[in-house]
Amino acid sequence: MKKIIVVGSGVLGASAAYHLSQSDAQVMLVDGRHPGRATDAAAGIICPWLSQRRNQSWYRLAKGGARYYAELTEKLRSEGESDTGYARVGALSLHTDPKKIEQMRERAEKRREDAPEIGEIEVLDEAQVRELFPLLNDGYMAVRVSGAARVDGRALRDAMISAAQRNGVSVIEGEAALSVVKGRTTDMSAKGEPLPEHAADVTVKGEPLPEHAADVVSKGEPLPEHTVDVTAKGESITEGRVTGVTVNGEYFPADEVVICAGAWANELLRPLGLHFRVTFQKGQILHLQMPEQPGSGEWPVVIPPNDQYLLAFDHGKMVAGATHENDVQLTDVRVTAGGMHEVLDKGLALAPGLADGELQEVRVGFRPFTPGFLPVIGRVPGWEGLITANGLGASGLTMGPFLGRQLSQLALGLEPDLPLDDYAVEKALEPR
Ligand SMILES: Cc1cc2nc3c(=O)[nH]c(=O)nc-3n(C[C@H](O)[C@H](O)[C@H](O)COP(=O)(O)OP(=O)(O)OC[C@H]3O[C@@H](n4cnc5c(N)ncnc54)[C@H](O)[C@@H]3O)c2cc1C
Repeated sequence: MKKIIVVGSGVLGASAAYHLSQSDAQVMLVDGRHPGRATDAAAGIICPWLSQRRNQSWYRLAKGGARYYAELTEKLRSEGESDTGYARVGALSLHTDPKKIEQMRERAEKRREDAPEIGEIEVLDEAQVRELFPLLNDGYMAVRVSGAARVDGRALRDAMISAAQRNGVSVIEGEAALSVVKGRTTDMSAKGEPLPEHAADVTVKGEPLPEHAADVVSKGEPLPEHTVDVTAKGESITEGRVTGVTVNGEYFPADEVVICAGAWANELLRPLGLHFRVTFQKGQILHLQMPEQPGSGEWPVVIPPNDQYLLAFDHGKMVAGATHENDVQLTDVRVTAGGMHEVLDKGLALAPGLADGELQEVRVGFRPFTPGFLPVIGRVPGWEGLITANGLGASGLTMGPFLGRQLSQLALGLEPDLPLDDYAVEKALEPR
């Protein structure tokens, strides 16, 4: 039976583990509960179709992710998970300029041609907007799309994990480190002898080392047979096999390790001599309790022209946010005066009615990004038994469940649902 370990149980890892739990593989899910986990903080807007991003590869993932929700939540419900946190409440994309509203409507109509899940598209005047979201300021028109949704990232993650556990997945808490054997794929034969300083006959994977073979040094130590730990031109040759993970001092072997470590992934790949170019952006997001607002659980998600948004939940609970802070430390999970000033300033301008809300909680999370703001997914080149995905950015709740399913297919040796060439992990890797 294939043993598979998933590291990281945000929306991505939870989805990978859940989908793997439908197979006959033996699956373990590990999470270190890092403060600032993105899934814990996310707003949860599922509405990729109105985005002005032109990158088709990004859009394909986001569109596939939004579409997949109906199937996934239905399946989870049929397995007894009644609280998936998903509600198809629609979205209002606001503007004060009628020309922009018309452009948005046209974009939505065009995108509906191959994404019928967008649902109804209609232009609403100011009065209609206020009827659907009474706390909003005057002056906004909107394009409403009925297929948009909101999802509570924590509830969805917990539902997937709970279903996975029922299907036999074991879940453990702790910081995972990769266990590796270097150079298993080489046919270099040092046979316990020190390599001569200028060994020119070393081969890796059956290929002679190109050009700089003469720079290979063995550090004067005999190399164990079938081990490559050499440097060519000062750079380490990092090849080998991931054999499992160590958690809380205990070793867990695996045939495949799937890394879903979000903003923390670079640390995990460091011992392999790899730099995983995952950057992160801090988001602070505010939760408010309004006096009872009848029917607020049905109110649509509000997407204004700037980068702030507003979501309503049952019994007058509101969420407003978020900040987009670059150049911060991964340990900086502070709620800051500047952050709250920005969120409240923009939030109250959008919906003055929020002024009466009681401040309840501020959540802080790190959105993980890979180069070009495009997610990556696939096998880590040079390393057997290692698969990863990352860079879900500001749309990770939208894409995460769908991408997690692709990860599970990769780990099981099945064909993914979509070609993954555009999202090759190589694009985000470089040697240290
Ligand atoms: C404020 C905010 C608002 C957002 N709003 C939206 C939105 O409206 N719509 C949307 O689609 N997306 C939104 N997002 C984006 C979305 O939340 C993220 O893209 C997504 O949650 C990333 O999921 P992930 O599983 O990759 O990472 P995370 O959720 O960060 O999970 C990574 C996990 O890996 C674990 N981990 C890391 N290293 C190790 C290790 N060595 N051992 C064990 N465990 C480890 C961590 O503890 C963590 O639990 C928002 C994000 C933020 C911060």
